[in-house]
Amino acid sequence: MFKKILIANRGEIACRVIKTARRMGIATVAVYSEADANARHVRLADEAVLIGPPAARESYLVGAKIIEAALKTGAEAVHPGYGFLSENDGFADACAAAGIVFIGPPASAIRAMGSKSSAKALMEKAGVPLTPGYHGDNQDPAFLHEQATRIGYPVLIKASAGGGGKGMRRVDRSEDFDAALTSCKREAASAFGDDHVLIEKYIVRPRHIEIQVFGDSHGHCVYLFERDCSVQRRHQKVLEEAPAPGMTPARRAAMGKAAVDAAMAVGYVGAGTVEFIAHQDGSFSFMEMNTRLQVEHPVTEMITGLDLVEWQLRVAFGEPLPLRQEQLTLDGHALEARIYAEDPDKGFLPSTGRLLHLAPPPESAHVRVDTGVEQGDEITPHYDPMIAKLIVWGADRHQALARMRQALAQYRIVGVGNNVDFLARLVAVPAFANADLDTGLIEREQALLFPEAGPPPQEVWMLAALAETLRETQLADKKALASADRHSPWRATDGWRLNGSARRKLKLRLVETTQEIGIRHVTNGHELEIDGHRVFARGTLAPDSELHAQLGERRLRAAVVASGERRHVFFEGRAWPLVRVDTLHVGGAGDHHDGGLRAPMPGKVIALLVAAGAAVEKGTPLLVMEAMKMEHTITAPRKGIVKAFCCAPGEQVGDGAELVELDPANT
Ligand code: ADP
Ligand code: ADP
Ligand code: MG
Repeated sequence: MFKKILIANRGEIACRVIKTARRMGIATVAVYSEADANARHVRLADEAVLIGPPAARESYLVGAKIIEAALKTGAEAVHPGYGFLSENDGFADACAAAGIVFIGPPASAIRAMGSKSSAKALMEKAGVPLTPGYHGDNQDPAFLHEQATRIGYPVLIKASAGGGGKGMRRVDRSEDFDAALTSCKREAASAFGDDHVLIEKYIVRPRHIEIQVFGDSHGHCVYLFERDCSVQRRHQKVLEEAPAPGMTPARRAAMGKAAVDAAMAVGYVGAGTVEFIAHQDGSFSFMEMNTRLQVEHPVTEMITGLDLVEWQLRVAFGEPLPLRQEQLTLDGHALEARIYAEDPDKGFLPSTGRLLHLAPPPESAHVRVDTGVEQGDEITPHYDPMIAKLIVWGADRHQALARMRQALAQYRIVGVGNNVDFLARLVAVPAFANADLDTGLIEREQALLFPEAGPPPQEVWMLAALAETLRETQLADKKALASADRHSPWRATDGWRLNGSARRKLKLRLVETTQEIGIRHVTNGHELEIDGHRVFARGTLAPDSELHAQLGERRLRAAVVASGERRHVFFEGRAWPLVRVDTLHVGGAGDHHDGGLRAPMPGKVIALLVAAGAAVEKGTPLLVMEAMKMEHTITAPRKGIVKAFCCAPGEQVGDGAELVELDPANT
């Protein structure tokens, strides 16, 4: 087996590969950019090599620097993870030329599947079923428009070189086609350096079902069953599971065979995934092949009991596949949720910042957390905003779902916007719970997924108030312990306080709701008064902010994390970002600004959509920004006249930078 490998990636996948390598007695070399000098994957690896500035195209995407690092450290093989160079045939070739093993398929197989267009042409020949469409070379806009008409709306325009759900536009009407084509080509050119597109019939209410395949260099190829990744937002997976609900053994065998045929047609070696779009009637057609390890591979590991990275390493070393098709078995049900730094309420806009508090649920035989970050780390705008993957296993789907609910309720993140609450609502949606799946589920279930934000339950205010007094007591105790006077009454830790029986008032706010809570110290606890109700409260607040509380006769568990004026209350699976309204700082904790005119995050300005002087309505698209590998359209926050743009296309702008000057409309 290899003695030392280099991991040409970052984040959770780099950490995950290091873990398996270590178990197998293989030394690991990490590479990192300046932004990742103290990242978890660097801390975990045996050795690490700096490869350049934060921008991926100057570090993680520079094959030459990675090969140099491998040669310098004596790594015999390179694991590319996913994203970055994982599907770059030139990099696979360059590794081979340098005498380094690329842990992945042969460069020829990557090439064959690299373009969705040519892959479809190949699959057609191999007899794999395809979605109707046009995947030829003619890129003339008028011709493509004709093809869309021939195929019939709705159609999907797809970047041939696309990935990660980017470079895709659904078009419902002929009159929208040209604009969608332009925007799709622009995104494809910027994200993938290639604006070639294909047109496909848009399948209504489809499911995304993919097959994990594995080939070795001895001519064997097996499939490790399927994953259902139908729950998506912006064509990107949010929840994944295995096996696919409702899958019959016959269909599984048919899809498995089609996937193995697809892999064999390109001489596949290593881990790969053949993605199919499945129609509600059970028929399926080829979508693309991802020639690498997939983000969601852990659900397959959970139901097969296998370590796919170990298989990758064995196959790359030249060993035959550890098991034959008939030796592979499937046990139970696994679910994965992708924990993203993003704001579901703002169209899943990626979020950046420091993870001030990060407490994932405890791992066990049934709960796994794959992550590349720890508390105190930062989510930067340079890379993918994934914080972690939460994977659970159950004897059946019902049990897996229950475990997922519980684990999400225990997940606590403060410092960056995140989708934990959203995921908790998502797994509770009846359509998901009943396995009534298709890729439109999130969009259709808006009402349940984005409920009107009402006021929090009374317990939330009370838990925050209780935590506040406990925190103050802890602080006073600390001060007293530090004080020299051993007889000072401040040293007493039995709850005795000067003015102990006076009632104090604490004011907390959630968006527009402000709540006053009276707090009075009583024997063994506190009396909280809220809207005229009085409740006895006591509890303990651990250093990790976990709160064991007693409110009246009820005993509750929660967490209250303080950060600045914020008091994040985690209670019954939801997070409530309260703000302590300090009378000394009236209005100081304002976290609202009218938005829209300022950059919501650092990024690049791609296009200005109106001219200076234009009259715009509230919601009129003003400009397009690119940040975190996504295009974001900035719209007018109100009716007005565009006085001037403070930025130009191509310009890099900082977080909060002013983008547009908008004058109120003359009425
Ligand atoms: P990517 O390389 O970005 O993963 P895919 O071709 O795999 O691109 O498609 C991503 C997602 O887009 C799919 O999982 C599916 O939800 C949706 N999709 C792709 N093709 C179609 C189609 N023809 N009709 C409907 N939805 C589609
Ligand atoms: P999967 O089915 O594994 O999610 P995707 O095609 O969606 O496959 O992309 C895999 C992952 O690779 C994405 O989740 C994303 O984090 C990452 N990725 C995609 N494109 C890039 C890129 N250009 N640079 C870095 N990471 C990328
Ligand atoms: Mg895909």
